[in-house]
Amino acid sequence: MSRPLIAKIDLDALRHNYLLAQGLAPHSQSLAVIKADAYGHGALACAQALNDLAPAFAVACIEEAQTLRQGGIDKPIVLLEGFFQADELPLIESLGLWTAVHSEWQVEALMAYRPDRPIPVWVKMDSGMHRLGFSEQSLEGIWRRLLDAPDRVCDLHLMSHFATADALEPRYFQRQLQLLNDWATALNAPTCLANSPATLAWPESHGAWNRPGIMLYGSDPLEGANDASRGLRPVMTLRSEIIAVQELGPGEPVGYGGRWITPAPSRIGVVAAGYGDGYDRHARDGTPVLIDGQRSMLAGKVSMDMLTVDITGLPDAGIGSRVILWGKDESGAVLSVDEVARHCDTISYTLLTGLLPRVPRHYFEDWNEAV
Ligand SMILES: *Cc1c(COP(=O)(O)O)cnc(C)c1O
Repeated sequence: MSRPLIAKIDLDALRHNYLLAQGLAPHSQSLAVIKADAYGHGALACAQALNDLAPAFAVACIEEAQTLRQGGIDKPIVLLEGFFQADELPLIESLGLWTAVHSEWQVEALMAYRPDRPIPVWVKMDSGMHRLGFSEQSLEGIWRRLLDAPDRVCDLHLMSHFATADALEPRYFQRQLQLLNDWATALNAPTCLANSPATLAWPESHGAWNRPGIMLYGSDPLEGANDASRGLRPVMTLRSEIIAVQELGPGEPVGYGGRWITPAPSRIGVVAAGYGDGYDRHARDGTPVLIDGQRSMLAGKVSMDMLTVDITGLPDAGIGSRVILWGKDESGAVLSVDEVARHCDTISYTLLTGLLPRVPRHYFEDWNEAV
C-alpha cells in the first residue's frame, strides 16, 4: 500500500496535442516547448514521446538542455532566453544548441567567441511585450552585425513574443504582428513568433517556426475557446482517493480557520492531496473535483497533505473513492485544469509547473492500460 496520490501522464494525448498544433500550421515547423520540466510533466519522458514528431525542442536554460542531451535526445534544442553568462558558449556549441539573443552583451560575447562551427541564432525583438528583446532602434544594427559573422553565427531568425495572443480583443496583438511583419520583410528574415494561443487562434502569425507550449499539455490558453482548442486532450491527470469520511451536523466548521461551515447535515470526504503536493492553497470553496467520475467541490481550506470535499450529494462515495483533482477520469469525465485554475485565481501554467516531486508520475501511452 502507498499513498494514493499520483499524476498520470498520458503520452498519447501529448502526441495528439502536438499533432494538432502541427496540423494548424502546415507551413511552419513546430518546436515543442518543454521548459520547466515540460510544464511539470517530466521533460525527458515528454521529449522521448515527441522525438519522432517534433523537429526541435525549446527550454529556458542550458541545464534543462543538458538533461535532455544526457537522456539521449539529439534533436536541436533552442534556448529561449539565450545564455546567462558568456562562459556557457562552449557548452552551447558542444551540446549543439540553438540560442536566442536578446541583449547587446550576448552579441558581444558571440562576436568574441570562435566556434568550430557557427551557432544558430534567433534574434529576439521586443515588439510590445516589453520584457526581452532588441528595440526597433537597435534591431537592424544587431542583425547586420550577426549577418556579417557567418563564421560565428548562422540560421538567423527573427523571434518575438506576444503579450495578448490569448485575449479576445485583438488590437494590441495586431499592432505587434504588424511591426514584426514589417521587420521580417525589411530584414528578409524567417520568423518564430507564435506561442500556443497564437498557434491556435492567429494563423497569420505562423512563421518558419512556431513555439507551442501549454497547448501540448492539453490546457486551452484562449480566453474564448475555438474549434481547435476544444480538440486538445488533457495530458496530466492528478488522481487520489478519499481516505476518511466525516458525518457532520449543520453549522460545523471544516478545516483550518473553519472557512467552510456545513449548511446542513453533511458528509465530508478527506482526500490525500494538499499544497505540499502542489495543489494550490488558494483554491476556493466550490473548486470542482470529480469523485468516482461525478462532480463535487472543495469544502474548506487546503491543508499541506489533505483537502476536504463535500460528498453529501454522492451517497455511494466513501473511503477509497477515486478523486480526480484535474484531468480525465476513467469513466471518461474530464475536469480541465483551466477550470480548476480559475477557482484558484491563477492559470493552468502555475498548477502544472507547481506539481511537486512528492507526487509520483506514472507514464502511459494507452489510456485503457493505465487504469
Ligand atoms: C514559454 C514560452 C513559450 C510557450 O508559451 P505557451 O503559452 O506555453 O505556448 C513560447 N515562447 C517563449 C519565448 C516562451 O518563453
